[in-house]
Amino acid sequence: MRHGLATPGGTFGDTGVGGLTLGGGIGHLIGLHGLTLDNLVGATVVTAGGEVVRAAEDENADLFWALRGAGGNFGAVVDFSFRLHPVGLLLGGLLLYRLADAAEVVTTWRELMAGAPDNLACFAGVMRSALRDEEGVFISVAYFGDPADGYEAIQVLMDGPAPVADGLRPMYYAELQEIFGRMPFGLRNYWSGRFLRELPDELIELAVAQFDPEHVRGSILFEPFYGAAKRVSPEATAFAGREASYNATFISSWTDPGDDERSIAVARSFSAAAAPWAIGGGYINYASESVGDGLETEYGAQRFARLREIKRRYDPDNRFRFNHNISPD
Ligand SMILES: Cc1cc2nc3c(=O)[nH]c(=O)nc-3n(C[C@H](O)[C@H](O)[C@H](O)COP(=O)(O)OP(=O)(O)OC[C@H]3O[C@@H](n4cnc5c(N)ncnc54)[C@H](O)[C@@H]3O)c2cc1C
Repeated sequence: MRHGLATPGGTFGDTGVGGLTLGGGIGHLIGLHGLTLDNLVGATVVTAGGEVVRAAEDENADLFWALRGAGGNFGAVVDFSFRLHPVGLLLGGLLLYRLADAAEVVTTWRELMAGAPDNLACFAGVMRSALRDEEGVFISVAYFGDPADGYEAIQVLMDGPAPVADGLRPMYYAELQEIFGRMPFGLRNYWSGRFLRELPDELIELAVAQFDPEHVRGSILFEPFYGAAKRVSPEATAFAGREASYNATFISSWTDPGDDERSIAVARSFSAAAAPWAIGGGYINYASESVGDGLETEYGAQRFARLREIKRRYDPDNRFRFNHNISPD
């Protein structure tokens, strides 16, 4: 950021670069500049056989296609080159509302984002903290432009139920990357979700109802797919969620190992309940495990067959297998 330039990162300040890029990369710049992997212009890969291979649009194009969405299946990436974009002062921060207002707030957010310009990025989440006595619904706001115009663009979020906390202010991109804080070290968590074709009222209500039992902790995060991320053809990269309109994820979190089973079950059951509106599987970077059949549901048959063929070429013995694994056979 020293030169006022950025490439899309995750929304959390402590998300890494390697896994984020190879699996997707959903962040505040999604509308303006797409996913992190849409901004990858080249990578250097050390293959299972010890070869050093450059992958780019005009060099080992098949490998470059596969790297952008299928994780670390093809080798160790030792160098990433990204396209950078100017990012100046913006309006950013979090709005927090009461849990009782969650359905109305998420519905308003959905309508706002359905017509949002590329330079407005808002994510929504229904949450109850595993660590503090805190619950509600949050909307993250990032308006890349004059902050005064930003307030106008999100006015609808102020017209309904009043936020109980309003953290919006003019800020720079590096500050925006800190608005979600950090995932506390050691917090137990399990992520499960689906790419969605649509986000009907019924699913919003279902998401809010997940928090009826007091013991449920964590958040259900809704991320819209729009703008630059949607203008890339689904065939251009191995990323599987391009045709989705939203990504919905239950991030279950808890502290007591005795709650493992119950806390994992709530995340899985939300994911299963979202199936009628889902496209394919879920976002692999958020998936604590795949939907169930060796990633074919996640990628779709055609994309999966192509990935397998590339895997056979670069890692026939499946050395790189401690990941969401594309098995060569
Ligand atoms: C708190 C938190 C917040 C998150 N927020 C976001 C978000 O806002 N947006 C989003 O899109 N995702 C987010 N994620 C998910 C994130 O994209 C994945 O966890 C991703 O794997 C993180 O990248 P990493 O480099 O830190 O991964 P690591 O944990 O280091 O690696 C994960 C896997 O990626 C592969 N990998 C990583 N680096 C390389 C490499 N150099 N070469 C080959 N393979 C490699 C390997 O298979 C490795 O096992 C979040 C995750 C967490 C825990």
